[in-house]
Amino acid sequence: MKEYARTFYKGKKWRECSAAYMASKQYVCERCGGVAVICHHRRHITPANITDPNITYNWGNLEALCQDCHNKEHMQKNTKIIFDDAGQVEKVKDGAQVRDFKQACNHIDALLSKFDRVESP
Ligand SMILES: [Zn+2]
Ligand SMILES: [Zn+2]
Repeated sequence: MKEYARTFYKGKKWRECSAAYMASKQYVCERCGGVAVICHHRRHITPANITDPNITYNWGNLEALCQDCHNKEHMQKNTKIIFDDAGQVEKVKDGAQVRDFKQACNHIDALLSKFDRVESP
């Protein structure tokens, strides 16, 4: 995470704001209906707008997303996925993004397995 964002996301005000927002959405991903784990800013946070409460704490600018949809949202800009004729991924540009994506997938797998343990009788 970028340094200017770290301070913001650790702040009490953001944690309260995002928790309230996520609860209002019942932790359901607004794009796919999965389990929302991230409170995303529709207009991404930048050093220029991070002090603007109308961006950072405005529910109209927030979106409850699952890890998958959040990855897609942030990968769009920097990552190009090239498919071959069979529809398989042939080439992915930008190795760093792919590593992050794989890490995120492992993370969600870990979360889901925990979930299974809690739910099963
Ligand atoms: Zn989703
Ligand atoms: Zn985001």
